[in-house]
Amino acid sequence: MNSHAPQAAIDRVVSEIQRMGCQSHLSQGRFRTVIGAVGEEGLIDQNHLASLDGVEKVVPIMKPYKLASREFHEDDTVVEIGGGSVPKVKIGANHAACIAGPCAVESKEMLCRIAREVRDGGATILRGGVYKPRTSPYSFQGLGIPALQWMRECGDELGMPVCIEVMDTRQVEPMEKYVDCFQIGARNMQNFDLLREVGKTRKPVLLKRGFAATVKDWLLSAEYVLSQGNRSVVLCERGIKTFEDSVRYTLDITSIPVALGWTHLPIIVDPSHAAGKRDYVPAIAAAGMAAGAHGIIVEVHYCPSEAQCDGAQALLPETFRELMVQLHKIAAIFHKEFAESTESVRT
Ligand code: PEP
Ligand code: MN
Repeated sequence: MNSHAPQAAIDRVVSEIQRMGCQSHLSQGRFRTVIGAVGEEGLIDQNHLASLDGVEKVVPIMKPYKLASREFHEDDTVVEIGGGSVPKVKIGANHAACIAGPCAVESKEMLCRIAREVRDGGATILRGGVYKPRTSPYSFQGLGIPALQWMRECGDELGMPVCIEVMDTRQVEPMEKYVDCFQIGARNMQNFDLLREVGKTRKPVLLKRGFAATVKDWLLSAEYVLSQGNRSVVLCERGIKTFEDSVRYTLDITSIPVALGWTHLPIIVDPSHAAGKRDYVPAIAAAGMAAGAHGIIVEVHYCPSEAQCDGAQALLPETFRELMVQLHKIAAIFHKEFAESTESVRT
């Protein structure tokens, strides 16, 4: 729309798009309003749209992902995680955030102890798996609903929004009231039904990149969520499979500038799952931030040898604290700032 288009003209375009049998998606940028018309190509009468009052131009978006593209929304999207019983944390543009916690919730005591450590070290969002996607069906699978309740209680007590992986469409509804952010794991990046289901909620979604997915595949998965009306997607690069076997996965640093050019969505890195070994985690996290990431998600445990899952890659709390000091400095070089931890009134 041209920059002076009145609301009535915007409303008219929206209703014309819907009349053509397409979905309309409004994007209000700094300088102009863009109205996305999403649907089958043949349905859209471009000449008719171009003739409507207030329309500056009609531009076909050539990228296969539409709502995720920079063409649709040129400014960086800032996703807010939390609100209600916990503070809101922003990720995107110049807002960086750290999500930290154990790989899996093992007991309420261990969770709260780690949560306190990571909050004191500078994390503002708590992670913790309650359903674990394990390669072997005989490995620890997560504690389910009780762990979900502990995450909520612990997050509320410490003033931290919680980010929890959802593995199945049937878990979305029961989990919704407990989580501040749904995590879609690498193995589920192309579970299209699951993407649609979390897209129907209005909770932010942390979308991990599949370890055999291209950046384009990843953005098309984000498109599934966005197409359902959920605008709050945070991308997460967590390493891909390569021939290199000295680490668990290879963190694809280049995917960060590539994705930042192609999409307006925020991107964080997961150095833990890429490295598979705690010694490598700080360097990978630092590299990710220097490449333009909006933060990290990292696993921390005070006694990694006793962890039920991913102990080898868990940072000790003191290493986590040191890492955060470094990441603050790197973020500042790139004009980003980490959200500060808010002290809870209840602790
Ligand atoms: C996790 O975050 O614990 C996890 C299983 O990650 P990913 O899906 O990236 O392997
Ligand atoms: Mn893990």
